[in-house]
Amino acid sequence: MALRSPAKTHWGLTPMFDSGRCILLAMNRLRGVLALMFVCAVVSLPSAQRPQIGAGLRDYVKVDAPVVALTHVRVIDGTGAAASDDQTIVIRDDKISEIGSAARVAVPAGATVIDLSGRSVIPGLVMVHEHLYYPTGPQVYGQLGQSFTRLYLAGGVTTMRTGGNVNGFMDINLKRLIETGQQPGPAIDATAPYLNGPNSFLQMYSLKDADDAKRQVAYWAGAGATSFKAYMNITRAQLGAAVAEAHVRGLKVTGHLCSVTYGEAADLGIDNLEHGFMASTDFVADKQPDVCPGQGRGQQAVAAIDENGEPFKALVRKLIDRKVTLTSTLTVFETFTPGRPLPPGLDVLAPQLKEQFERNHARTAQSKQSNYIALFPKGMSLERAFVKAGGQLIAGTDPTGGGGVVPGFSNQRQIELLVEAGFTPLEAIKIATLNGATYLGRESAIGSIAVGKQADLVVVNGNPALSIADVRNVETVFRQGIGYDPAKLIESVKGRVGLW
Ligand SMILES: [Zn+2]
Repeated sequence: MALRSPAKTHWGLTPMFDSGRCILLAMNRLRGVLALMFVCAVVSLPSAQRPQIGAGLRDYVKVDAPVVALTHVRVIDGTGAAASDDQTIVIRDDKISEIGSAARVAVPAGATVIDLSGRSVIPGLVMVHEHLYYPTGPQVYGQLGQSFTRLYLAGGVTTMRTGGNVNGFMDINLKRLIETGQQPGPAIDATAPYLNGPNSFLQMYSLKDADDAKRQVAYWAGAGATSFKAYMNITRAQLGAAVAEAHVRGLKVTGHLCSVTYGEAADLGIDNLEHGFMASTDFVADKQPDVCPGQGRGQQAVAAIDENGEPFKALVRKLIDRKVTLTSTLTVFETFTPGRPLPPGLDVLAPQLKEQFERNHARTAQSKQSNYIALFPKGMSLERAFVKAGGQLIAGTDPTGGGGVVPGFSNQRQIELLVEAGFTPLEAIKIATLNGATYLGRESAIGSIAVGKQADLVVVNGNPALSIADVRNVETVFRQGIGYDPAKLIESVKGRVGLW
């Protein structure tokens, strides 16, 4: 983290200094040693910290107080447990300090009290197949990190992993700007540029060999990337080298695969596979090693899988044995499927991109022979089968394809689609929160609503435990105890998403 001048921060000295820096300061500056020792003693307590609110955040902040009490609220805690009505949540600085029935929990003196009768809180969403780019033109992905980070936060996403980037440094730089309170957005697990074999993407590198894969991982980890994504034409040797190099650094690798099967990737130690079973080529009869037979061929085979048959069950067992997590990205597949409604959030797009997607959607509606008519529900039921067998499912949205997957709005849609797939609303919310946090190794700090955890909370009007569509009614998004106004975040980018 870059050390910024404390004078510029709203919260003054205290959040900037840990005890080590205090000692240095005391030694370096022989002024007011006693006073400094006092300051150091105070700030060294392992208690909550006020997050920084830089000038770039001010316009979007709705709740900003050291102690906040959310009263008379329904709590859906993200663990899958039943909702609790009429609760009080006390937030101190960036953490949850108390939760209990409104009748029992006393509101601390001086707290900012927000009566949330009729509202529910769910944990901030932790979504893991996000991108800071979007298809804007022929073979071109526009880099929309500035608008997308605001939209993700507005939609209730407080932590996200980018699932591959086609830019280089933007994900990493935005991660830092958000961490240091200079820009609004979710915490970002920043994924390096894709690790792919020979490919024709204009904005993507082609790995030369396994050593090259190793070098790429080392380079991008050094540059600040915190996760990796293998792509459709990577070889087994390249993937194996990349996984080994990432694991040495404690970093994880996911993949949208094709040339390498799910079973092979599990054997190579991959941590996560994207798109449910939609990118599996394990069931293509004449699959050649290290060669992508085409995503369409893989998907035809997936559409024909018997989910109770031994081949599928054996793959599921292997993924579970090797602790491979699966990411559901139903949102992007919905946009490929005829007969589905227009996705939410199109109005924020720049007019040309909105029209472009609406034309795609109309064309999709006409393709009566589309694979996706059978594949989309099949993909849903395979994800259910994976979870039923004991597999760990996490969720993301994937704003790529032919467009129409709009950050924030699509994260809420993804939760609705999990419910359509057969998960209960409470299970769907857990997949989109605690499961994601667990995958990221951050479940002790985020992902559910519990005392001591970071105050990352989404306030929604209604009761998503009964009606999952209520996850769309976001009124306030708390990240690290600061409440953001989703309407202001959305308004700040509306009609311009596509430009920046
Ligand atoms: Zn993706």
